[in-house]
Amino acid sequence: MLRAKEAHQKIYQDRRWKDLRALKYSDNPVCECCKRKYTEHIHHIIPFAQFIDLDYDKALEYAFDYDNLSSLCEACHIEVHKFMNMELEDFELLLEVLEEVDSNFNEYLLEVYRKNLEISVC
Ligand SMILES: [Zn+2]
Ligand SMILES: [Zn+2]
Repeated sequence: MLRAKEAHQKIYQDRRWKDLRALKYSDNPVCECCKRKYTEHIHHIIPFAQFIDLDYDKALEYAFDYDNLSSLCEACHIEVHKFMNMELEDFELLLEVLEEVDSNFNEYLLEVYRKNLEISVC
């Protein structure tokens, strides 16, 4: 079995990833979060790395799933990752606040948050 770091690198060097990323860049050239800046990064909504040690096939599934990708500018990408590392309690508090605010950024975060909650059973 591959170690997580090697597996991660292997996925990013995979031809399938390169094609998928190119397709995503051409389909969504503008950041899906702020909808203002051009895309600099392709982000996985459900992080595939969490499955590498448990179930490598599942990790591959999430890594190469077009619907699991988001085009993000660098600033939003950093924010999204901070948000993803929050504790569930803090997530829930944040959710209440976000629901009262209407902006592209918050809508995007809400969607990402919900998708991650659905799968995070462990
Ligand atoms: Zn952005
Ligand atoms: Zn990311």
